[in-house]
Amino acid sequence: MGILDLTFPRNEFKGLDDYEKIINHILKLDVPFTILKFNLNESGIAVKLDVPTEKVSQVTQTLEKAGIKIKRQVIEIDEELCIDCGQCIALCNTGALCFDEDSKLKFCEDKCVGCHLCVDACPRQAIKY
Ligand code: SF4
Ligand code: SF4
Repeated sequence: MGILDLTFPRNEFKGLDDYEKIINHILKLDVPFTILKFNLNESGIAVKLDVPTEKVSQVTQTLEKAGIKIKRQVIEIDEELCIDCGQCIALCNTGALCFDEDSKLKFCEDKCVGCHLCVDACPRQAIKY
């Protein structure tokens, strides 16, 4: 799964009555999805969406072209706690976690899709989500 925070801007989507319009936008992507949250805030209508990991790039690009703002939820690693054991690397399907040339854990944020798989794998609770 990949978690995306979408904001549908207020100038186009006036309120929660536009629910159908928003859902149609997502349905047009033709990918399976789960809506985790749906609310109105200062910037517009906020939707938290869960889509398959391999579809995150496609969904992001398509919705951004339609003027919808997207923020991916990515992890943070506490370097003080991390012991570079590599257990998280084995679980990351996107290559966001790897070892650098000094065998230290390296996190590539642009590859992280927020799937959460690595979080529970860490014996030191060094990965925050
Ligand atoms: S770094 Fe963690 S949350 Fe990000 S894609 Fe890899 S396994 Fe998923
Ligand atoms: S599982 Fe935890 S301690 Fe091990 S390399 Fe990953 S973040 Fe570091």
